[in-house]
Amino acid sequence: MKKMLLAMAAVLAGMSTAAQEEQGEAAASDEPLNLEQLLAMFNWDFDAVEITTEQVGEGLYVLFGAGGNIAVSVGEEGVLIVDDMFPELIPKIEAAIREIGGDGVDLVVNTHWHFDHAEGNLALGPAGTTIAAHVNSAEMMSKENILNMVITKYRQPAYPPAARPSIVFDDRKRFDFNGEEIDLVHAGPAHTAGDTAVIFKDHNAVHFGDVFNNAGYPFIDVDSGGSIDGMIRFCQAILDEVGPNGIIIPGHGPVTDSATLQAYIDMLRTVRDRVAAQMAEGNSLMAVVASGVTGEFDETYGPVSGSLGFVDRVYTSLQRDAE
Ligand SMILES: [Zn+2]
Repeated sequence: MKKMLLAMAAVLAGMSTAAQEEQGEAAASDEPLNLEQLLAMFNWDFDAVEITTEQVGEGLYVLFGAGGNIAVSVGEEGVLIVDDMFPELIPKIEAAIREIGGDGVDLVVNTHWHFDHAEGNLALGPAGTTIAAHVNSAEMMSKENILNMVITKYRQPAYPPAARPSIVFDDRKRFDFNGEEIDLVHAGPAHTAGDTAVIFKDHNAVHFGDVFNNAGYPFIDVDSGGSIDGMIRFCQAILDEVGPNGIIIPGHGPVTDSATLQAYIDMLRTVRDRVAAQMAEGNSLMAVVASGVTGEFDETYGPVSGSLGFVDRVYTSLQRDAE
């Protein structure tokens, strides 16, 4: 059992197989990690991180570094970003934004409250950036949370008021910024209970946060209201809005297209149905995990060790939703 749990490693994107093996033993304890311990586990060294920039349209860019991808709208009205990585990286992020014609960050939208997408708020908020997020994510940022990532737990401290959203919304909110309609959409609980997809209407581009992971199997934060059925519903709702020709910006991994998102939804549905069928026969979590329900998908979303944490969360969420 312990060995199996140790193998349930790549539950968050960006963690190398080597890092999983190296850190697995240390991470097996129940005691939640602090940020320093967690960064060591992910092999993230902020001094060494380079921010790279990809242009996806006129005035729309994606920045890659450590943590969740950042979308940047830059134009006459200023700079709007989606997610903000870590405070230590903000100087490098602002330098990358200057390279594309921006000066500072006027507005940040957090796709959700997880540290690797929202921690940069700690630097941006006190410096005067306006912060927006779903009401449930704002609520989570106001208190300490234990983030259960299956093989390890992380204690995310409460953010001070200046680092929390001053703009919150329930289902949908629209910004008109840099001449474009930018829609914030919450299509129900999915990766967490407070996910936002940000749709740049003129570009037909969408930043999904961690509801869509393009760097392996997704993590579902079941302990804070996420669910597999919610992941499927959320992805389908946003895909229905952008249609077959969307520019799809994942929480982690490379920018892609609607066809790749559709394939991801199909994977989620197939694995969900396989797990549900086994549960209907009374199979235990360990039996389901051992049966290899992800099968043909490991080639695309692997490694197989990463599928174990995913299957664990699918099973746990179906079990909870059946109660
Ligand atoms: Zn997340």
